[in-house]
Amino acid sequence: MNNFDIVVVGSLNIDVTVDVPQAPSAGQTLLGGDSRRSGGGKGGNQAVAAARLGRRTAMVGAVGAEDGEFLLNLLREEKIDLSGVRPVSAPTGQAFVFVDTEGDSTIVVSPGANDHVEVDRELVASARAVLLQQEVPAAVIEEAAAVADGFVVLNPAPARPVPASLLANVDLLVPNRGELLGLAGVDRGDLVQLAQGLGTRGPVVVTLGAQGSLVVEAERSTRVPAEQVKAVDATAAGDSFCAALADAILDGADVVEAARWATRVAAVTVTRPGAMASLPTRAELGS
Ligand code: ATP
Repeated sequence: MNNFDIVVVGSLNIDVTVDVPQAPSAGQTLLGGDSRRSGGGKGGNQAVAAARLGRRTAMVGAVGAEDGEFLLNLLREEKIDLSGVRPVSAPTGQAFVFVDTEGDSTIVVSPGANDHVEVDRELVASARAVLLQQEVPAAVIEEAAAVADGFVVLNPAPARPVPASLLANVDLLVPNRGELLGLAGVDRGDLVQLAQGLGTRGPVVVTLGAQGSLVVEAERSTRVPAEQVKAVDATAAGDSFCAALADAILDGADVVEAARWATRVAAVTVTRPGAMASLPTRAELGS
């Protein structure tokens, strides 16, 4: 059995993007521009991000037997192992993205095959690090975290309750501000105290968009500012950030050093449009 640096358990989506004159409202039929397809889904994005950083990466997910080939080819090009990706009879997950003239998106996600992911326990157990997000069923994430032997990163996005039994198996939790508030069950509050109150077994890195991130450990917290860049599209910023955290931790970095590296990687991601398309290679990062 191959030993992978990073195994990602998560969603694979085809993003179908259409430019529209304004966000669609109820009952409205709109004429938009030509549609374009690209690879997405938090799981797929994190796998591509890890592979482009030079990590031996495997994906655990599911795609439709009839229309999954588009995504599988994108992942193959990145040399991502696909032995854990199941073809299922449901359609491949899709995100329908309507972008208005202001650049704001209205998104409808159809999870399809992502609701049928099964954990390849041997593959997950063999990984040096396991990356999890919440676009696949909760039971899948819980099982993956429980069988993982390596370092477990959970990006609790999209927001939903995370049981204590899952948090207990997570080495690094990476919520954004809204997700942290949701996990803590409050509307506002001191982010450090909220993160420390979650009961994780390891640190929490709270991402704050253009404000950077906050690394919260049991005894200290450290603010890591974002890089000053001309952001054009923040899609997949969080995904590249999570993959880069794992990448640095596998190299022996502590969590603050890892957050600094992740900040660099995410900064490049926001300067380019798209999801998978925007993710930088290690060579591009100059290290
Ligand atoms: P998503 O789920 O859309 O990928 P997220 O909410 O999980 O995003 P963010 O907090 O938006 O994640 O971004 C993750 C990291 O990306 C931030 O901590 C920061 O380092 C970097 N980043 C995001 N936006 C910018 C920006 N405008 N300029 C520079 N860096 C940014």
